[in-house]
Amino acid sequence: MVMPKKTLKLLMISAVFALMLGAVVVPRLLREVTGDAAPAHGVLPTGMPGRFAKRFETMGTDAAIVVYASDAAEAARFVGPAVSAIESVNALMSFYRRGSDVSALNDSEDGDIVKVSDMTYRVLESPRHFSRITDGAFDHTYKPLGNLWRLAQQKNTLPSEEELRDALGKVGAGGLELLDDNRVRVRRGGGIVDLGGIAKGFAVDAAADALKTAGCRSALVDIGGDMALLGRRVDGGKWRVQVRDPRPGPDNSIMLELADAAVATSGDYARYFTVEGNRYSHIIDPRTGWPVQNVPSVTVVAPDAMTADALATALSVLGAADGMELIDSLPDVECMIMLRRDAENDGVIEVHYSGGFKALLAP
Ligand code: AMP
Ligand code: MG
Repeated sequence: MVMPKKTLKLLMISAVFALMLGAVVVPRLLREVTGDAAPAHGVLPTGMPGRFAKRFETMGTDAAIVVYASDAAEAARFVGPAVSAIESVNALMSFYRRGSDVSALNDSEDGDIVKVSDMTYRVLESPRHFSRITDGAFDHTYKPLGNLWRLAQQKNTLPSEEELRDALGKVGAGGLELLDDNRVRVRRGGGIVDLGGIAKGFAVDAAADALKTAGCRSALVDIGGDMALLGRRVDGGKWRVQVRDPRPGPDNSIMLELADAAVATSGDYARYFTVEGNRYSHIIDPRTGWPVQNVPSVTVVAPDAMTADALATALSVLGAADGMELIDSLPDVECMIMLRRDAENDGVIEVHYSGGFKALLAP
């Protein structure tokens, strides 16, 4: 396809800008491996035949959509609706954006009824399922605990028993009553909802659905390491996804080969905070009120990205024994859990695999 001169110039300018700014530095453990280095902005050829990519930032992290298409115009036709789908999810479910459904719920008083979008209502329904199967380890109403620990971090002082008890009392799905017609009654005051453990996965699935609807058969959607792999690559090969080893020193990363699957990671490798010299994860156990410790990385492979995302967060809380029992009871879900055995030293890490995980490793 011949591009108009003006478009070409714009693309070149944005590519130069992207190079000047450098890649967004977000620590992440999951990456698809292709050797393609598509610059940011626009749906651009990647240097590999028929492969086009768009890289952008959303939901506080970097994102990519890779498609196989016959030409740039078809690639743009595939990618456009997928990016819009992600932006809609972000607009509705962001904790920080004014005007999002989540902000409306959090700004409400006890007893208020909030009408949310179809999409948010569906996402609010799913944590009940994940909370049930994970024995309460996944809880999208954990935010009062998140706030307490953010304060603890700022003051560098552990919360008191009483503060913990108080925050725990505000947590729990009973804080939101799902009514008919997309209405939600706030039951325990506002400020409790945070879909951060599940929204990226939901957005990835929404983008994958949009790609399928547009007729795309071979694509990858990646938001900050939560990924959906649609079909296979056009060369018939599976998608290769690298899971980096969080240990410093020699790289022992592993390579997964996936097709028509989703994968997500969680853990304190990328995000953590310290209080009184101890390192804590941004994931909090809603049953005890304490942040998770010493789980550097959990990887979950599942049929859809929302399941992979929610379970990766929940497994960080559940740990290896309960986590493996859960995963082995779920069809088509596999995981790898890394535990830090020596808190003083990142080097001592124990790796646990679910029954079928090793079958996903590249030969
Ligand atoms: P992820 O990176 O997908 O594991 O999500 C981590 C995010 O999930 C955190 O930054 C919080 O916004 C949220 N979160 C923390 N603890 C929990 C929990 N126990 N259940 C559900 N979401 C949580
Ligand atoms: Mg998650």
